[in-house]
Amino acid sequence: MLDTLKDYKIAGAKTGIIFDIKHFAIHDGGGIRSTVFLKGCPMKCRWCHNPESQAKEPENFPGKVSIGERVSVEHVLAEIEKDTVFYDESGGGVTFSGGEPLLQPGFLSALLLECREREIHTIVDTCGYAVPQIFNSIIDKVDLFFYDMKLMDKEKHIEYTGVSNDRVNENLKTLSEKEKAVVIRFPVIPGITDSEKNLNDIADFLSPLKGIDEIHLLPYHDTAAAKYKKFKKENLMVGVKPPPAERIEEIEKRFTGSGLKVKIGG
Ligand code: SF4
Repeated sequence: MLDTLKDYKIAGAKTGIIFDIKHFAIHDGGGIRSTVFLKGCPMKCRWCHNPESQAKEPENFPGKVSIGERVSVEHVLAEIEKDTVFYDESGGGVTFSGGEPLLQPGFLSALLLECREREIHTIVDTCGYAVPQIFNSIIDKVDLFFYDMKLMDKEKHIEYTGVSNDRVNENLKTLSEKEKAVVIRFPVIPGITDSEKNLNDIADFLSPLKGIDEIHLLPYHDTAAAKYKKFKKENLMVGVKPPPAERIEEIEKRFTGSGLKVKIGG
């Protein structure tokens, strides 16, 4: 049962568009989790591993597959509830990912409230790009944020993701002010995000933020190349190789040196 029905009205959403629900996920947060992938993203990162998630509407790839379907809150809850026993035993819960879940705030809000009603732990995995009013409307319904930090240079952020990082930075500061639980997720993309300047700028930005002291390094891998081919999307990462283990270790040391707890991988 919802305690604030007005939340549905943010986007009038008793339904939303998802492109997958993954059961028994062990890399999307603590314990055994169900991960709900909401469709649509305001960014267009060059290295995106889920290019089929970016468009807001369901897409049909003739002869191949359809990506995305409109489903009800009840439908998603029924899927989530299948795994309740595993959440309880493992300290897991539900992760809302994408795409960008905040692109469907009414639907996301409804799902978060229903999870809270059932005492199911929630993570929202976000790129942070949302109008502050929308972002603020879901903050108190989330147990833990996974929050992407990519590039601190505004022009480079626009060049490589398609949008400015102003909102990303502002919303992260709000989470810190509210002392919310946040884990930063940093994609290590050779030649793009791994410059010394970007590492230093991210460390400097995070250091005064209260309660934000854990960062996950997500090394680039090229396994999405097949998806770009399959879905006929332009792959701008041809030839980019995953970062070597030694570089990941250096970056780990860089952030550890700034007092951050570092984990490699998701
Ligand atoms: S924010 Fe995530 S889902 Fe969106 S384009 Fe970037 S990598 Fe892909």
